[in-house]
Amino acid sequence: MPGATVDSAVGLWPAGVVLHAASQRLEIRWRDGVTQQLSAAGLREHCPCSGCEAARRAQRRPPGDATLQAVHAAGEYGLQLAFSDGHDRGIYPWAYLRGLHDACVPGPPAHDTHCDSTS
Ligand SMILES: [Zn+2]
Repeated sequence: MPGATVDSAVGLWPAGVVLHAASQRLEIRWRDGVTQQLSAAGLREHCPCSGCEAARRAQRRPPGDATLQAVHAAGEYGLQLAFSDGHDRGIYPWAYLRGLHDACVPGPPAHDTHCDSTS
């Protein structure tokens, strides 16, 4: 993942997670000062569960207008996200979330990352 550098494990621990329901952005503040704003649709598209991985391999895309219904803590592992299309099985590990970035969605760029959605 170009640009997705994580220097130390310290950065892999969030100081705060906020779901902005109106704008459908998930904001993650990391302990190293980085703040991410991830779009619900982008998160849905990058769901790491095995079912969605298989769907991506088969070139099937999730609904692009999915919204985030709920955010649950998945222990110390990461976040479990529930989407409006009924999909709530995706567990997003912190390191995975950190590797995602918001360059693929409208809004001010954060951090020095690039969109790699072509992969
Ligand atoms: Zn999934």
